[in-house]
Amino acid sequence: MLKDKNPSRTPLSALGEFKLIDVLTKNFIIKNKSTVKGVGDDASVLKIKNETLVSTDFLIEGIHFDLSYMPLKHLGYKAIMVNLSDIYAMNGMASQITVSIAASNRFTLEALEELYAGIQLACKNYKVDLIGGDTTSSVKGLIISVTAIGQAKKEDIAYRSGAKPNDLLVVSGDLGAAYLGLQVLEREKQVFQVNPNQQPDLSNYTYLIERQLKPEARKDIVELLKKLEVKPTSMIDISDGLSSEILHLCTQSNVGCDLYENKIPLDQQVISTCEEFNLNSTTVALSGGEDYELLFTISQKDYDKIKGNPHLTVIGHMTTKGEKPYLVTRSNQKIELIAQGWNALKP
Ligand code: ADP
Ligand code: MG
Repeated sequence: MLKDKNPSRTPLSALGEFKLIDVLTKNFIIKNKSTVKGVGDDASVLKIKNETLVSTDFLIEGIHFDLSYMPLKHLGYKAIMVNLSDIYAMNGMASQITVSIAASNRFTLEALEELYAGIQLACKNYKVDLIGGDTTSSVKGLIISVTAIGQAKKEDIAYRSGAKPNDLLVVSGDLGAAYLGLQVLEREKQVFQVNPNQQPDLSNYTYLIERQLKPEARKDIVELLKKLEVKPTSMIDISDGLSSEILHLCTQSNVGCDLYENKIPLDQQVISTCEEFNLNSTTVALSGGEDYELLFTISQKDYDKIKGNPHLTVIGHMTTKGEKPYLVTRSNQKIELIAQGWNALKP
């Protein structure tokens, strides 16, 4: 599906580890005052004033991504977004990342440069510094591990455990699109395998594919909440699907929840593609993953501050301890929410 834009192919063995690290990291610029020393010594040096937030994630080829439709530059960008999202989900600001990679001999210097071009764009757009990592080889495939470092004032940190009964449940953006983008790409991959000459027409799915291949972490929402003077009582990012994230908030905060089906924000392309694929759009929003939106609770007294904001939707409220998390359907039935995650949608 993807044409090789870079015909020159330098094997990694031609460089050696040190030269490779140098080539990949030399164009990165340090932007944050809290970075005292970045790449190049035995350890990086940071000087962070507030509470420090640290989060790490693995991305494994064949498990988390498929390079037959994921361009390496997008993969690099997404690997950073996934990690920054966790820092923003604490109501903090990200400032540094480390990136460790293990690549098999199938990967060329040019391929890794593409990956790092995506990482560099993410660092630029989100003002974070690449401060280190590790580089090694793998027997098979590509493995990426990113660690994100950030900070927040002690009183600003939003834990999963802070939701109170009657708090409003709020979500940023809209849900389900990234999962459907993956379904579209999987379908086109099958078509391509049967007939490589057929050019796919993806114009009806542009938003879905963008949400799958180029997600954006919601730094803007953390900034918006600060501006509106709203401190979320609890917060989590949506990586595994709305229902499993709601369950995390409920379990850790020891509250129940009423989630209203008719309030779940869906893009028009999600609605039309669900019809075409014969999927229930509520199920897709509840169990489809990788939206990287923020899900949080606020005190009722803050409702006026967020009311009508186009980036935020109130989708329910928390209930007292002992109540369960429920989906209140369009026909006003109450169904208990269960943790499914995106696996549940697999045939
Ligand atoms: P050491 O042998 O002490 O682990 P390395 O040779 O692995 O040192 O790393 C040298 C420098 O390059 C360190 O600052 C390290 O953090 C950085 N580095 C290594 N690999 C990467 C990578 N894939 N991305 C960014 N920085 C890296
Ligand atoms: Mg090392």
